[in-house]
Amino acid sequence: MSILNADLHSHSLVSDGTLTPEALAARAAANGVELWSLTDHDEIGGQRRAMEAARAHGMKYLTGTEISVSFAGRTVHIVGLGFDPDDAEMLRGLVAVRGGRDARAREMAAGLAKVGIKGAYEGATKYAGNPELVSRTHFARFLVESGVCKDTYEVFDRFLTEGKPGYVEHKWASLGDAVRWITRAGGMAVIAHPARYRFTPNEEYALFIEFKTHGGRGVEVVTGSHTTAEYVQYAATAREFGLAASRGSDFHSPEESHTDLGALPYLPGELTPVWEVLADRIQ
Ligand code: AMP
Ligand code: MN
Ligand code: MN
Ligand code: MN
Repeated sequence: MSILNADLHSHSLVSDGTLTPEALAARAAANGVELWSLTDHDEIGGQRRAMEAARAHGMKYLTGTEISVSFAGRTVHIVGLGFDPDDAEMLRGLVAVRGGRDARAREMAAGLAKVGIKGAYEGATKYAGNPELVSRTHFARFLVESGVCKDTYEVFDRFLTEGKPGYVEHKWASLGDAVRWITRAGGMAVIAHPARYRFTPNEEYALFIEFKTHGGRGVEVVTGSHTTAEYVQYAATAREFGLAASRGSDFHSPEESHTDLGALPYLPGELTPVWEVLADRIQ
């Protein structure tokens, strides 16, 4: 085992989490996290605050983000770690990825209105801590709050996944662009929670091969989105493709997340942890 309590995947209200970067840092530190990264969706506006809060709590820090990518007709998430948060090309790229979110949110609300759910755009944006980052999570919170569903899982199931009334096809970044932005800014691109995509074995193979071709170097193995069997499965995938392995809770909110910051098994020992490769990027 790699005995380091590293949590390299979490969200603040700069994207679709409910806590500030400072409150997340305090919670991570209280849970024994030694190396932390805030990985807000398509946004790095919380990085300075997170870095400073990590330092105040005596935690090591890696810069982070989670970029939305369209690949083979699905949405794939690419985590970036250890990049320069002032890199101009990356900042421009993320502005472009965020750009389509508002129009998408209006379309989602129109879809929900057709099944009798009124005011969803206003309802969702009320929960968004960042007006440029209205996400399905904010719609989910609105639908729970207004009593339509009992929890966010039910919302996604009934309204926000493919084929459901609030789902809108969206074109995110390309895999190559996301991996290049991160890599050229000095960081490492990591495939987030690979088990979540439900790709066929051939599609998944294509994802890993193309990811590597573009310069991607890591994969999440131990994540709040994987089962114990999936830790074993993706540990094998990491070895097969020669990728470094990452570990992160994907924590969003004390009320919604079933995996708390740092509350995960350690990485299996035969893998190369991303933090070994990124040693000189740790703050
Ligand atoms: P978006 O980037 O707007 O498509 O929103 C994606 C976010 O919604 C993810 O990062 C998760 O936080 C959340 N999410 C996606 N699928 C589900 C699900 N099935 N159940 C609960 N939350 C989900
Ligand atoms: Mn999220
Ligand atoms: Mn994700
Ligand atoms: Mn995430």
